[in-house]
Amino acid sequence: MSYQHQDYRGQSIELPLGKVLCIGQNYQDHIAEMNSKTAAEALFFIKPNTAVVAIHQPFSIPDQLGAVHNETELAVLIKAPLSKVTPEQVLDAVWGYGLALDLTLRDQQKKLKELGRPWEIAKGFDGACPVSSFIAAHELGDVQQLAFSLKVNGELRQQGDTSMMIRSVSQIISEMSQFFTLLPGDLVLTGTPAGVGPLNSGDQLELALADKLHIKTSVR
Ligand code: ZN
Repeated sequence: MSYQHQDYRGQSIELPLGKVLCIGQNYQDHIAEMNSKTAAEALFFIKPNTAVVAIHQPFSIPDQLGAVHNETELAVLIKAPLSKVTPEQVLDAVWGYGLALDLTLRDQQKKLKELGRPWEIAKGFDGACPVSSFIAAHELGDVQQLAFSLKVNGELRQQGDTSMMIRSVSQIISEMSQFFTLLPGDLVLTGTPAGVGPLNSGDQLELALADKLHIKTSVR
């Protein structure tokens, strides 16, 4: 696997690539656009490390499996083990923050939901998690005050702000750690705001995180 975590200056980060822990339904506007039922319990799922690719290079999407949707999300890079921790213990174990696309086979997901089956295929396929470089936590300020966006072919498709999260980064990771031990090099995806939609081969993408990350890439 050639993927390696990098900082936004292009330096390798000495952490292995681990699993990707994700939360669904963490922004009200996305829950509304999906007509999703909500519950008090958080919706967690995992992508395997084979889903991760660097977003800075053109990336591939499946072409025979129906719609592939963008979900632009704040990504958290973990640097220390976390097991059954409180929210107050989380941020000291965070290396930094970047952006990720939680690519989703939406037609497949719909079919699986209707059958009452798990989502692995729709969320965990090879290449399902293009990930940016990372900004060290101390260089970024308050993680709950970060604007981020996705443009597709020059048009604004997603505009989020981490202040709109239903669960904060610390709450998400604390809750995840009650079930799953997080290890150095793991990633946490924190949910998508509204604006999910299909990506197609040849699409030109621009992603931004605060005034720190500006990424231009494309779908191969
Ligand atoms: Zn997502």
